[in-house]
Amino acid sequence: MKTQRSDELFEEAKHYLPGGVDSPVRAFGSVGGKPFFVRRGSGSKLFDEDGNTYIDYVCSWGPLILGHAHPRVVKAVQRAAENGLTFGTPCELETVLARMISAAIPSMEMMRFVSSGTEAVMSALRVARAFTGRNKVLKFAGCYHGHSDALLVKAGSGLATLGLPSSPGVPTAWANDTLIARYNDIGSVEQLFSAHGKDIAALIVEPVAANMGVVLPKTGFLEDLRRITDTYGALLVFDEVITGFRASYGGAQALLGVAPDLTTLGKIVGGGLPVGAYGGKRKVMELVAPSGAVYQAGTLSGNPLAMTAGIETLKVLREGDPYGRLQKMTDVLTVGLSHLIGTLGVPAVVSSLGSLFTVFFSPEAATDYDSALMADTDKYRKFFRAMLEAGVYVPPSQFEACFVSLAHTEEDVDRTLEAAQRAFSASLK
Ligand SMILES: *Cc1c(COP(=O)(O)O)cnc(C)c1O
Repeated sequence: MKTQRSDELFEEAKHYLPGGVDSPVRAFGSVGGKPFFVRRGSGSKLFDEDGNTYIDYVCSWGPLILGHAHPRVVKAVQRAAENGLTFGTPCELETVLARMISAAIPSMEMMRFVSSGTEAVMSALRVARAFTGRNKVLKFAGCYHGHSDALLVKAGSGLATLGLPSSPGVPTAWANDTLIARYNDIGSVEQLFSAHGKDIAALIVEPVAANMGVVLPKTGFLEDLRRITDTYGALLVFDEVITGFRASYGGAQALLGVAPDLTTLGKIVGGGLPVGAYGGKRKVMELVAPSGAVYQAGTLSGNPLAMTAGIETLKVLREGDPYGRLQKMTDVLTVGLSHLIGTLGVPAVVSSLGSLFTVFFSPEAATDYDSALMADTDKYRKFFRAMLEAGVYVPPSQFEACFVSLAHTEEDVDRTLEAAQRAFSASLK
């Protein structure tokens, strides 16, 4: 496999960008080697600067549920671009997308658009603090909610492999207001609420955890979180930046039947352009300026290009039975992977929900951060390298989700399983 051009570009990038990248996990730190530089993407494929082609199961870490460069999204964005890139004044597209989101996720009666998931979460928690007049936030070890200061504590994702329990530069005072519970362990939540209940503004959770690898909520877990937050008067915040329009058209909350007070979105709602959104009950969201006093603003928020990419993506997702198709395709893949694991005797399990999955190199499915961290990252590294050699790009970290898109074909799945047979064998050496 030729890598010369990508290697040169990486060396050059390192002069100007820390680690040569603009987001840490892209540097392949935990799987070794150097990242490939992409020239273009189309459908389920990425094409790199050395002429290699990859079947892509990272899909830009979640936004590309339709695959790369979906013709309808690209056309809509091109047309919108001709009318101006940003206005800094209201445009109808903001209301159109908000109406579509509210129809899909009825708990989001009112919302605000921002430009990233990080911003959405940070702002949602500011509103929760203002609404409750309390300061503390409870999160779960291994859940990632973006890189804002207060949330960079036991945050999974890129931090899981960097080995940073939190980050230098985060004032202890901020981290002190962040309480950490164990995912799927309702006892750990009850304990924190009985000790700090009157100070807890919000409990934030990924309703299906996807930033420590895919970890499913146990039956009743989310219902228990709803009950406890109601009891203590704290707001329940679902971070659906990954699961929104992914777990189902109405997100994880529609699939699992638990409605939060506030929801944060990102990734798919921007259709590949930078968008985040936070929203919930009208009486909470009306606290946001200018209707209320909680300040939050953004130069490019609600810009017509990002709104258009989101609107067009959601339109495609409303046609036919995309979630049924995604599920079927992912089932063939995960059943095939599990079969290979069984026949080859690999100490691994596949954890999946809808079009999200993770191959964990551990004997049992993870239920929380500690059990996720027991996975054998050296085996994952060998698996990853062999998959990449065979032209299949899975996440360059054990603790991330694989994403299947509507552009993935049966042929992609067959080729992936062929590659996986060799890669699993390589992982055992
Ligand atoms: C990706 C992600 C974020 C952060 O979104 P950015 O757009 O990267 O800032 C927040 N929460 C979850 C659950 C995510 O997966």
